[in-house]
Formats: sequence, C-alpha cells, structure tokens
Amino acid sequence: MSTPRPSISIAAAELPKIAYGRGSRLWDTSGKSYLDGSGGPAVYCLGHAHPEVNAALVRQLEQVAHGYRYTFTSDPLEQLTALVSEACGGNLKHMIFVSGGSEAVESALKLALQYQTAVGQPSRRHFIARRRSWHGNTLGAMSVSGFEERRAPFEGALLDTTLLSPVNAYRPMAGASAETVAEAGAAELEAAIRARGEERVAAFIFEPIVGAAGGAVPAPPGYARRIREVCDRYGVLMIADEVMCGSGRSGNWRTLEHDGVEPDIMTVAKGLGGGYVPLGAAIYTSRIHEALSAAHGGPLTGHTFTGHTLACAAGVAVQSIVKRDGLVERVRTAGERFQNSLRGALGNLEPVGDVRGRGFFVGVEFVADRATKEPFLAEHQLYLRVRRNALERGLICYPSGGNVDGVRGDTAILAPPYNATDAELQEIVDLFTLAVRDSLAEVGAL
Ligand code: PMP
Repeated sequence: MSTPRPSISIAAAELPKIAYGRGSRLWDTSGKSYLDGSGGPAVYCLGHAHPEVNAALVRQLEQVAHGYRYTFTSDPLEQLTALVSEACGGNLKHMIFVSGGSEAVESALKLALQYQTAVGQPSRRHFIARRRSWHGNTLGAMSVSGFEERRAPFEGALLDTTLLSPVNAYRPMAGASAETVAEAGAAELEAAIRARGEERVAAFIFEPIVGAAGGAVPAPPGYARRIREVCDRYGVLMIADEVMCGSGRSGNWRTLEHDGVEPDIMTVAKGLGGGYVPLGAAIYTSRIHEALSAAHGGPLTGHTFTGHTLACAAGVAVQSIVKRDGLVERVRTAGERFQNSLRGALGNLEPVGDVRGRGFFVGVEFVADRATKEPFLAEHQLYLRVRRNALERGLICYPSGGNVDGVRGDTAILAPPYNATDAELQEIVDLFTLAVRDSLAEVGAL
C-alpha cells in the first residue's frame, strides 16, 4: 500500500467557525475577519447580510414560508419568473425553480429527454459533454461531468456519456491552436454526433465559462455560435450550464448573451439567490415549453420544494437589487479593471501562466514553466497552499487542482460580490498576490 502523502488541505475539524458577515466581509468566532474574494464558491453576489434581502425574507416568513406547488402559486414565484425571463431576454421564458445547481442540471437533462420524446424522437437518450467540466454531484449531473477526481469512486454506475475535449484557448487540444480551438471543438462535437448516430443524441451540455474544473476558462470567440449551428443541424438540444458563470457574474446576465447565442435550456443557481437560501433554476425556450405542454401537459420533473415560496422571495429581492443598482453593468466595467490590476500585480511572477475570465469571474493558472505550460508537481499541492495562505492573510478565494490532466494543474478563481467597492477589489488583488507569493516560496518557485 502506498503511504498517503501529507495533505496541506484544511481538515473539517480545523475549519474556523463562521460567526457573521457584513457586505464583502466575514468574521469567525475568534474575531478574525476575511475578505470574501470569491463570494464563497462564486455565490454571494450581494455579499453578506444585505439588509434589504434580509428584510424581504423576514416579510415573507411572516406571511408563509412555503405554499406547496400543487396547491398554490405565489407572488414571489410569479415575480421571479418575470424578472428572470426579462433578464434572459429572447425565448427563455419558462423555468422550474429548484434548490441548487445539481437539481437545475438534473431538471435540464430531463427536460431535454422529455422534449425529444414529445417531438417523436424517443431514441434520443444520449448526452454529449466535455472533459474538464463540472455539472453537479447527483448521479445524472455527475454522469455528464468531466471531472475525473470527483467521478472516480462512482465509475461504472454513471450514465454512458460522450465526453469531448475541453475547449480552452490557453491549453488547446492536440492539433489546434488558440485561434483554431473553437472550430476544432465544434468539429469534435459534430463527429461525435455522427459517430453515435444523430437519432440517438438528446443534447450537448457545456459551461460557457468553465468553473471549478478549469479555473474560469471562457469559451473562445466563435465557439458558442458554431456549437449552436451543429446542434441545430442534427436536432440536438444545446444546454448551457450557467450555474457558476450566470446570473450576471460574467458581466452579462446570461454569459452566452456576449456571444449572441440562445441555448435551448439553461441552468442557473449560485448568484440567483446570492446564497441567502438554496435556489437554482432550469430555464427553457417557448419551443420546448410548447412541445412539453402539447405532449404531456407540461414538464415532468419537480420536487417537494420546487418553486419554494421563501426561496423565490429571496431570488426576487436579490434580482431586484441587481437590476435596480445596475450591478451587471458594474461587473462588466469594474471586472475589466479588476482583471487588469490582477495582471499588473501577478504578471511579473514567472509561474503565473494565465489570468483569464470575464466580469467578476476570473481565473489564475499557475505553471512550473511559462514557456511550456508544464504544471507543478501534484505533490506540491500548490492550489491548496494558495487557499491556506490566503485564509491566513484573511482572504477567501476558490482554488482548484487537476485542470491539466485530472491530477496536475493549479488554478484559483476570484469572484467578488457584484457590489464590492473599488477599495475592496484592490484589497483582494493585494492579499491574493501576497498569498500567491507565500505559496510559490513554499514550493521553491520564487
Ligand atoms: N454546474 C456548475 C457549472 C457548477 O459550478 C456547480 C457547482 N459548483 C454545479 C453545476 C452544481 O451545483 P450545486 O453544487 O449547487 O449542486
């Protein structure tokens, strides 16, 4: 038996205990404060303890926490549907509110299967997705996820899914360059559909900006449009998983708005309710809605807490503030400055290979050799060092490992609250740079 390597991850028993939060900061029970540079896992878009959101939750609780969906509709449900549909624009007018990202993805997969049955194509049962992607921890969502480390203990019991190459301009697949990677990714999708037989493929699912599995990797220019064309040509539905990058985080409410592309089904979660309550949604177009209504009377998916009244009230409060305060616009403009100041602060560090992302969803990738993009040895656990050193300095960031081959690769995501002040954004850059320097020094790379 191999000896387990000493881990520098922070064991659950050693985690600090949360006491309270205010805006972009959190305090633990020892009185130590943390600047929330990643909104936790890219969730807390309005920061913590927002007085208007809290007041809206109290008001709703004083009325009723939950009106069960088979008995009642509710104002919060109807208002959130209107707000999300307006934010999405176009044909994305229908939605199912669930309790998080995995449930949103499960719903999206089921809507795709149900649609194909409804339009007389019940042989279309197969999903195509990509390696280095993460769609969630339930069995269906994990089945379409290309995240080896998380899948490994469950292999053999997952749905048979075709996993294509990641589409990453910094690390293009073999034979492609940063300029041709979009086309190569689309060609791979087309070949996979043909190989499986188009009459068997239900949908293609991807993250418009890859989150945890890649370290905020944006789709290269032109990719989404080409994917849309391929899906349309073969009757395959396009599912955009915007659980992490959506709800305004990328500087557009929908990330694919930037590319001028509308998916058939889209998932959101984290920033939708800003973490005040568990909330997610699977959103779908009028075409899907009409097919499901005609064949089955509506979507055949849902849970006890689908459209939960308090959760929807939180969503209404968060999304109304995002809209009223022009926060998506703020993310777009301040995001560019934030990314530039990060580049300025980190750019002279040889092991910083790439700073990328969009809006307030920024990824930093560390490499042992900038020219060859060779990653650090996995044994160094560099990404965990960054997490620990940042926490010690009072900064929360979201590091992740394994983006290169499932084992090697070190990235960190920064995803500040949309209402973080300019001074807080600068403090995030400063603390993060110090934590990166500490970590690189520990592994002898500085
Ligand atoms: N999709 C994406 C893109 C995600 O980043 C995540 C979570 N990190 C999920 C789905 C699953 O969401 P949840 O953890 O809320 O179930």
